[in-house]
Amino acid sequence: MRTLDTFDAGIIGAGPAGIAAAVQLARHGVRAVVFERESTGGLLRTAWRVENFPGFPGGISGPALAAVLDEQLRASGALLVRAEVASLDREEEFLIVRTDGRGVRCRAVIVASGTRPRGVTDPDIAPDAMDRVFREVDELRGVRGGHVAVIGGGDAAFDYAMSLSEKNDVTVLVRGNSTRCLPILATRARSRKRVTVRMLTRITAVAKGSGGRLRLTSLSEGGDGGSVRADLDADYLVLAVGREPDDGFLSEELRRDAPTLGERRELLFAGDVVNGIFRQASIAAGQGTHAAMKVAAMLRENVGAGVGSEETGVADSQGESR
Ligand code: NAP
Repeated sequence: MRTLDTFDAGIIGAGPAGIAAAVQLARHGVRAVVFERESTGGLLRTAWRVENFPGFPGGISGPALAAVLDEQLRASGALLVRAEVASLDREEEFLIVRTDGRGVRCRAVIVASGTRPRGVTDPDIAPDAMDRVFREVDELRGVRGGHVAVIGGGDAAFDYAMSLSEKNDVTVLVRGNSTRCLPILATRARSRKRVTVRMLTRITAVAKGSGGRLRLTSLSEGGDGGSVRADLDADYLVLAVGREPDDGFLSEELRRDAPTLGERRELLFAGDVVNGIFRQASIAAGQGTHAAMKVAAMLRENVGAGVGSEETGVADSQGESR
């Protein structure tokens, strides 16, 4: 195997946690390599409004905040590699980050890889209907004048309803008799003319109906406690039914060590990948900064100040030096 390029710090993910980590590492004089398979900003790109990120009184739209963070990442001088991380493994004193066909070795890695949509078995979705069913709302950004059904009763479902209803009619389908989202989000969505919220509504099947539209088989609870069938047609369906950590690239060994990883200063986790339901950009950014400070302290102790990265064009075709 050819010698791998070496970096002091690798960051997996360029959402708020990863960007904050890169910015803080730059302040310590540590040059980092950041891996991101999509656009920078993470789920901020899909957020209707962020109201609790300090510095933005009155709030800021998710895409606008993502753009500000992207600018800060550029200014940090971190090297951005636009590629999906396939594996993260330990080899002697290094952590090896591999993308398709390439690898770099890092003295420390901050995993800030966020979440991916959780797999669900219901509703039962016909294969030919899948082209109109989405798990990530940014894929519907260009859609206007349609009817979008959103399944879910959490912050994500209501946040999506707010952004989608700017150009479409939206029906939010909540299976229970209460929502999990912030009350203020539900109140706002309900006050929008183009948003309908149907509680106690379970979608059991999704098929392609006439004209290529979706036909959602829906069971709503009737007054007598029984179920009433009330099908629904929609142009698109968004499943906002929860997310899970996007950490499938961790090696068996690192996964086995997971309970002790929090104590290791060469492998740290920050942001949504470890935050469960506490997925907020402001929390993620703080954790990214915190992780970067720990990495910088570890490098100072173990490697000595002033040790830089010996990178040799790792970015060429896949990355951009920033
Ligand atoms: P969540 O709070 O876990 O909500 C998931 C929703 O999906 C629940 O209403 C759940 O119903 C429903 N559900 C799950 N499986 C289902 C199925 N098979 N059929 C129908 N419904 C199903 O997840 P989330 O909305 O992704 O939010 C998680 C966290 O992300 C939040 O706590 C928040 O911190 C963060 N977040 C924040 C914002 C924001 O601030 N604007 C936006 C997005 C996310 P049950 O309640 O019946 O289980």
